[in-house]
Amino acid sequence: MPQKPATSIDIEALCVKKGMRMTEQRRVIARVLGEATDHPDVEEVYRRSMLVDDGISIATVYRTVRLFEEAGILERHDFRDGRSRYELMQDDHHDHLINVETGEVLEFHHDEIEKLQEEIARKLGFKLVDHRMELYGVPLKEGQ
Ligand SMILES: [Zn+2]
Repeated sequence: MPQKPATSIDIEALCVKKGMRMTEQRRVIARVLGEATDHPDVEEVYRRSMLVDDGISIATVYRTVRLFEEAGILERHDFRDGRSRYELMQDDHHDHLINVETGEVLEFHHDEIEKLQEEIARKLGFKLVDHRMELYGVPLKEGQ
């Protein structure tokens, strides 16, 4: 069986390891983020958290997400639609393609592009330590 992606238990454990005090509401938010396979914004995390505990406020979600981000548990993305989107910090790298019509985010990894970027950096006298690549597109229509 393939390894399951990071679960909410992992996030909670991570939080505890980083010395974070885990309230019940933070646990709910951690679980929601752990189960997300898309790149939700704060409002979406809030909507999903509300289904579990309707006492959670959006301010709490904002604070908690910020806290997780500062702790290096979450990665924040700006996909140019004016809202920050979040995903779990992962060891394996991927890039994103954003459907500008729907906001849907696709993940991809391309070895040649990765190599090219390292090559470009090297030619400029640098060792590449990180990069971000975002592609923005609209779905191809028939015949395009
Ligand atoms: Zn992603």
